[in-house]
Amino acid sequence: MNDHPVIVIGAGIIGTATARALQREGHAVTLVDSGEPGRATSYGNAGFIAIDHLLPLARPSTLRRVPQMLMDRNGPLTVHRPSIPALLPWMARFALAAYSQAEVKKGVDSFVPLMAEANVSWKAEIQASGLGELFKAKGALYVYESEAGFAGGEEERALQKAKGMTFEILDGNRAREMAPGLTDRIVRGVYYPDGMHTINPYRVVAMLAERFAADGGSILRSRVRGFGRDGNRVTSVETTDQSLFAKAVVIAAGRASSELTRLLGFNAPLVSERGYHVMLAPDNVRFDLPVSLAERGFVVTPMQEGLRLAGTVELAAPHQPPSWHRADLLVRHLKDVLPGVGGTEQSRWIGERPSLPDFRPAIGRAPRLANVYCGYGHQHVGLTLATATGRLIARQMAGEELPEALQPCDPGRFG
Ligand SMILES: Cc1cc2nc3c(=O)[nH]c(=O)nc-3n(C[C@H](O)[C@H](O)[C@H](O)COP(=O)(O)OP(=O)(O)OC[C@H]3O[C@@H](n4cnc5c(N)ncnc54)[C@H](O)[C@@H]3O)c2cc1C
Repeated sequence: MNDHPVIVIGAGIIGTATARALQREGHAVTLVDSGEPGRATSYGNAGFIAIDHLLPLARPSTLRRVPQMLMDRNGPLTVHRPSIPALLPWMARFALAAYSQAEVKKGVDSFVPLMAEANVSWKAEIQASGLGELFKAKGALYVYESEAGFAGGEEERALQKAKGMTFEILDGNRAREMAPGLTDRIVRGVYYPDGMHTINPYRVVAMLAERFAADGGSILRSRVRGFGRDGNRVTSVETTDQSLFAKAVVIAAGRASSELTRLLGFNAPLVSERGYHVMLAPDNVRFDLPVSLAERGFVVTPMQEGLRLAGTVELAAPHQPPSWHRADLLVRHLKDVLPGVGGTEQSRWIGERPSLPDFRPAIGRAPRLANVYCGYGHQHVGLTLATATGRLIARQMAGEELPEALQPCDPGRFG
């Protein structure tokens, strides 16, 4: 049985980075995906390695915005109306997590070490897999159109400061110097000099997959639909084409992970937090770092293939048709805040952030199963946490216990 490979299900950024980490530990690894690596949610994100993200989104200040979110289909947070009945159980769990000081603290306690690991592990992976041409270390800029909006970030900045994170508070003029073209309406900015971003998130996954295959890993294009079991061990993974013997299994199937955990007898209450991107021709772009319009909930990132406007949140049940007016909204926002920047539209895209109600990822061994590991639920920070997730799963598979601070990310917490 030890001759069998570890089967990693899902070749998004989480599964691919995990396959790479396991391969490095000497495991034979097969990466299975029903599609091409990196073509799902990991394809179109904003590209930002967001190690500044220390507060879980399930917190009282987000909860206070829910009534407005339900009313305004053009706000930064909205709910796909036909999905509301299906989303109610998730929303109730979210409200409980956001309201509970103990849950918010668990989020902070786990995000601090996760982000530290993300920073170190991405730098190592970029080096090891030769991804340097796809990343830029130019920092990141958050800008605000109102003092109230800026004040809304104070809680997280206080935490960042307490944890030794470096940032610089800017007035509107200094923010405009850093990102020429920003409107006079910008009154404040915060610059994170240690921020890093990729100029092509899809290529990052594709190159990791290429390196994985070049170093002896197998990639199989097939849909996983079941598991063979012997007591508390999974012995095989059943795909639509074949049965694969397995030494161990990693579930990293993004939003669809819940369909697989159900087959294995445990819960992953994931919903889609849908986000959109629009690619524009890079006309008049005179900045080289991600610019986050915090109050509008989107990011403008200069990328290899154009200017990417990415973001906003639309909670939705699975398999619902896209709400393309959310993508139109991104273009309207850009015209308001960076008038004259960006040219004709080249493409648009929708992606499903895989989100658990407490906004903490599920990382580590599955409940009641000896050889199944989880890496899903990374919501807004899956790109950021991919290499850290891979390393943690590889360490646990090698027999190490995960640090105490990561207990709040235990996949068994939903039963
Ligand atoms: C607009 C937007 C902007 C974002 N910006 C950022 C950002 O700047 N920084 C950041 O860190 N994060 C960002 N994110 C979040 C990030 O993109 C996600 O958290 C991340 O891509 C999730 O990766 P994943 O590997 O879990 O899922 P996915 O990329 O969705 O991959 C899951 C894979 O599993 C496969 N799969 C599913 N079911 C099966 C099955 N039964 N059998 C076989 N294969 C299966 C799918 O085909 C898919 O390829 C953003 C997201 C969006 C939508």
